[in-house]
Amino acid sequence: MAEGCIFCRIAKKEIETQVVYEDEHIIAFKDMKPRAPVHILFIPKKHITTMNDIGEEDVSLLGRMFLKIKETAGTHGISESGYRVVINCNKNAGQEVFHLHAHLLGGRLFSWPPG
Ligand code: AMP
Ligand code: ZN
Repeated sequence: MAEGCIFCRIAKKEIETQVVYEDEHIIAFKDMKPRAPVHILFIPKKHITTMNDIGEEDVSLLGRMFLKIKETAGTHGISESGYRVVINCNKNAGQEVFHLHAHLLGGRLFSWPPG
């Protein structure tokens, strides 16, 4: 738990969200400002600040998180139409919340390259 971290507070249920998936190590919840018909955030319950801070000890946790992202895409009907998984890191990528999270976005067409 990092002091003042909003996603640590979500993981501890101190802040209410629409939870889509949860297990001992991961929680997924709907983004409060959805950018697509499906917009779900996946976070490790453990505080990891950015992509730059992941380590060998996080490999199985994050591998499992990606498996759950894939499964959730399936349950939300976007596996075949397609989806995007985004992790923003630091200023140039526009990271706003400094607790590692992956966006699962789907249900519409996305342009490439990203803005
Ligand atoms: P990022 O720019 O990758 O750091 O994205 C942070 C995301 O967290 C944004 O899409 C916000 O809408 C979302 N967000 C921030 N606070 C909450 C919250 N309390 N519940 C749900 N989503 C949130
Ligand atoms: Zn945190």
